[in-house]
Amino acid sequence: MKHICLIATGGTIVSKDSGSGLEPELTPQDLLDCVPELQEIAQISVRDLYHLDSTNINQEHWLGMANCIQKEYDAFDGFVIVHGTDTMAYTAAALSYLIQNSKKPIVLTGSQKSVYQRDTDARRNLLDAFYFAADARSHGVYIIFDGKAILGTHARKMRTHSYNAFSSINCPEAAILLDGRIVRYFEPEISGDVYFYNKMNARVLCVRPYPGISPEILKRTMDCYDGLVIECFGTSGIPAYGGFDTAIKEWAEAGRIIVATTQVPHEGSDMSVYQVGKKLIDLGILEAFDMTPEAALAKLMWALGLEQGREGIEKAFYKRVWMDTFRKPENENN
Ligand code: ASP
Repeated sequence: MKHICLIATGGTIVSKDSGSGLEPELTPQDLLDCVPELQEIAQISVRDLYHLDSTNINQEHWLGMANCIQKEYDAFDGFVIVHGTDTMAYTAAALSYLIQNSKKPIVLTGSQKSVYQRDTDARRNLLDAFYFAADARSHGVYIIFDGKAILGTHARKMRTHSYNAFSSINCPEAAILLDGRIVRYFEPEISGDVYFYNKMNARVLCVRPYPGISPEILKRTMDCYDGLVIECFGTSGIPAYGGFDTAIKEWAEAGRIIVATTQVPHEGSDMSVYQVGKKLIDLGILEAFDMTPEAALAKLMWALGLEQGREGIEKAFYKRVWMDTFRKPENENN
């Protein structure tokens, strides 16, 4: 029997109504008591890491989770992390960059309803997560939710209430789970030894242009940040009115690392199509291609944390990690 570590970080799944709204109070042992069949799938040990609504999870907690897994890595065959759904896609992306080449599965799950509610989705998601984590063919970072196995770099929360909360963006689901049977559509290859990173630089601003946006936010905040993620219109458009594009140029000239992604949920960015996008290439702006905005943000924080100068950061950003993008920049040579 595989030995799996259940790491609890909070979320609806472990929540109880405290009278002032749901609060993540339950321990991982409480979860095991609610779903005792889990013990038939694997031998389970628990780590009670955080009791947080995932709204309050940030880069320090990502590093805490990676550190917990690093410390326990040799002792277990796999890891299941219980997490709130609201920022689970960010955490899954961040762990995909912080823990690379993991032959052992690192599986995030949660639920839309507390494990204590009669119509909860917690039981199914927990069972699926353990089936997946205990399977010898599972490697790397995934979200398991509503019967789907989604690569950690491609998940996005698409629904606030329904059980099918997550979609796999710009990449098919890797597998589906049917009553404990795993139907795999593809199996990403992992080569090399597992590698843990222990630093991230969260001095990154995300800006989502909208019709009428003023450049004020960019003008007033440049000194607070080392990086910028712009969620462009369409393939890669940013407004040229009101000095918005000039403000971006100033950030680029001041050495800030800028990544262009798109606010369109599917099919990714392409700066080479329109004149409004092509000028971003000339400014040395990096492109997210098929990465989700969540993955682009986490990857930029990871790459900046490497402290390797502009060239090193750019190379790290364009290194394909856990199938995060299928496209490459024209000048890419690594
Ligand atoms: N607010 C909750 C959280 O992200 C939502 C959930 O878990 O579904 O922690």
